[in-house]
Amino acid sequence: MSASPRTLTVLGSTGSIGVSTLDVVARYPERYRIHALTGATQLDRLFEQAQAFRPRFVVVLDEASAEQLATRLKAAGSQTEVLCGEAALEQVAAAPEVCTVMAAIVGAAGMKPTLAAARAGKRVLLANKETLVLAGRLFMDEVKASGAELLPIDSEHNAIFQVLPRAHREHPYAQGLRESGVKRILLTASGGPFRTRALDTFAAITPAEAVKHPNWSMGRKISVDSASMMNKGLEVIEARWLFNAQPDEISVVVHPQSIVHSMVEYADGSVLAQMGSPDMRTPIAYGMAYPERIDPGVKPLDLFSVGRLDFEAPDLARFPCLRLAFEALAAGGAATAVLNAANEVAVAAFLDGRLSFPGIAALSEAVLEQVSGLPAGDLESLLQADGAAREAARAWLARGERAC
Ligand code: NAD
Ligand code: MG
Repeated sequence: MSASPRTLTVLGSTGSIGVSTLDVVARYPERYRIHALTGATQLDRLFEQAQAFRPRFVVVLDEASAEQLATRLKAAGSQTEVLCGEAALEQVAAAPEVCTVMAAIVGAAGMKPTLAAARAGKRVLLANKETLVLAGRLFMDEVKASGAELLPIDSEHNAIFQVLPRAHREHPYAQGLRESGVKRILLTASGGPFRTRALDTFAAITPAEAVKHPNWSMGRKISVDSASMMNKGLEVIEARWLFNAQPDEISVVVHPQSIVHSMVEYADGSVLAQMGSPDMRTPIAYGMAYPERIDPGVKPLDLFSVGRLDFEAPDLARFPCLRLAFEALAAGGAATAVLNAANEVAVAAFLDGRLSFPGIAALSEAVLEQVSGLPAGDLESLLQADGAAREAARAWLARGERAC
């Protein structure tokens, strides 16, 4: 192992991935040191994290929160400095003393600081899949130009990364998947909590039911995305960019036990899978220690208690969001950015009780149709597409088209 500790910034440290990351860090104090922690809400948790990990900086969104947190930290004798705003997030992601950035802010809000980390040539541990959905080509171009080291944290993509040929996973743009001997990527999906629920009861689904994932404990937005299978759609787009895969080289396989985290099928007929207990500390530790392996405290996989592994084809009639993601990918340009933004507005409205569960797909489809043909050229045009989609989504909600 390296002599001096690796310095980390954890963007979104108060969230589900952030907390799991700090759990791994706490097990290896000699290996990792925290430069900065960031959070939008949950100031109490951020305060406790700052006390435990003594970062140089913590970053919050607004001045009022910054003042409040700074006063508390000072009173507790802490040396940690409190910053606020988007520019501060980018600053702590790109700081010269930082080696590794965990990108674990949820949603499009995570894109700019993640991009800043890539531009600065960091090891980027990418949990924030929305960055690739919103700005896939641009982000990968930045990674290539800076020589940043990109390690996927999303469990499926981490699994795929682990079983791809090393040359391809580290330099996916040197050649296509086919030239690397790979026939296709098999992206597994649990099917979420509504895989077998009667379709005619979908309009009655409550936020509490939707955030209750059968296998994984996650933040609220990704839990709803998993229930609608929009999450798998976003992951198809994520895989397209991470692995230089064409859309027809990615297949979704429903696997309710979430033990096989994904697979790669090779030209010779071999199918390599990565398996493990459903615990995000495995992919997080993999990214943190790569290419070494460390023990993150995950419960060992007990195949005898798992008993069986099932596989099914996805049901696109039940889960139209998955179809929409393939359609957005095929449409090209800024379509995936539009889909991502529409979905974010829809999920927030669903969690607030302003939209039915089937309304998430209905709203996303309507916005994708309405805000079409926009280019993905540069950051500015992507942010414009994101803004136009959010506006169209809010207008759709205001028209009261909620029941579907
Ligand atoms: P979460 O909601 O638990 O945490 C989100 C974090 O982002 C929090 O620290 C929050 O304060 C911060 N945040 C929210 N809005 C922000 C804003 N506008 N500006 C700055 N910070 C903001 O989410 P999570 O489940 O930890 O997911 C984080 C990311 O990782 C998501 O992109 C998700 O898709 C991805 N991911 C999560 C899991 C999982 O198991 N939780 C698995 C795979 C991928
Ligand atoms: Mg995933």
